Amino acid sequence: MLKLLFLSTPVGSLGSGQGGGVELTVQNLAQELKQKGHLLEVVAPLGSTLKGIQVKTIEGNCQIAVQTQTRDVPTCLPANSVLANMWEYARQVQNNYDLIVNFAFDWLPFYLTPFFDRPIAHFISMGSMTEANDEIMNRVAQNYPDTIGVYTKSQAASFPFAEFCQILGSGIDLSLYDFCPQPQNYLTWLGRIAPEKALEDAVEASNITGIPLKIFGKIQDQDYWQQIRQDFPQAPIEYGGFLNTQELQKQLGKSLGLLMTPRWLEAFGNVAIEALACGVPVIAYARGGPAEIVRDGETGFLVKPDSVAGLVEAINKINQIDRFCCRQQAETEYSLQALGERFEAWFQRILRR
Ligand code: UDP
Repeated sequence: MLKLLFLSTPVGSLGSGQGGGVELTVQNLAQELKQKGHLLEVVAPLGSTLKGIQVKTIEGNCQIAVQTQTRDVPTCLPANSVLANMWEYARQVQNNYDLIVNFAFDWLPFYLTPFFDRPIAHFISMGSMTEANDEIMNRVAQNYPDTIGVYTKSQAASFPFAEFCQILGSGIDLSLYDFCPQPQNYLTWLGRIAPEKALEDAVEASNITGIPLKIFGKIQDQDYWQQIRQDFPQAPIEYGGFLNTQELQKQLGKSLGLLMTPRWLEAFGNVAIEALACGVPVIAYARGGPAEIVRDGETGFLVKPDSVAGLVEAINKINQIDRFCCRQQAETEYSLQALGERFEAWFQRILRR
């Protein structure tokens, strides 16, 4: 039995959607590791909730999401920083735990690593974003072997310390996602509505094909969203809000396919495996995490990055995909149990050193 202290992302509370896929990863891992008999405490910003897990909530101002900034941005913390407050709490309670697990993509926890008595495992949830972060992560990677975990190979490859990364993948609680063999005539797009996700490409593809597009997720950038609505006034799109997993999988499951159009290097793309779990084929740009997940022609289509024509072509042949194959891929490659085992093995490796 391990005693684990999880420190969540400081960009928003768990359950708000601000943190994107890492929120689901924290929920799933906490649930699975607790079920395996480990003792676990999750520290997260005020307002956070996790199903079946107690959360120590910490007040303070959230970090600005790093993906909205340029590569040379200096490291910044607001006054009364929730990130600093969370790590102050971790410092105080660290001796009650064997290992601290950091889910923040921020400079501070990496910098603090040598100042803590307890070892810290850092799970990085995005590709390379800023010079300051790359530098401090690189230092930790070199000085504390095995302590950096990532989702995928292509994500690791974006960092100067690629060979030091533990590739851990992702996984979901498959019992929460129902297989839906018979879709209705619409496509889905899921995620944070923000420029790096290039929702406009999916909207344009829906506009060209005339197939309705249902959009779900947190609107992180209102101006960006309004611009899309203005640019495609006739597109058959519908925004359904930010849904919880249960509601999300119902809407997602009945769709013909999921469109994934990230402009950036998507580290993983939890929405891809959620779609597969429902039997929904994934049409994605062939780069980053989605390119490692989707089996082209079998569980979806990988298209030329940033090509709306490519999306349209793939949408037109979506019926060629056997939805059962999609569900099967999720079951064989993305079970929560397997994810829990990979993380356990990673923690043991760190603790043995
Ligand atoms: N999501 C959600 N409700 C919604 C739309 C999306 O809970 O209405 C979640 C989804 O389950 C996924 C996350 O938002 O876990 C998006 O994560 P992903 O890894 O795809 O991208 P990220 O935001 O991390 O870049």
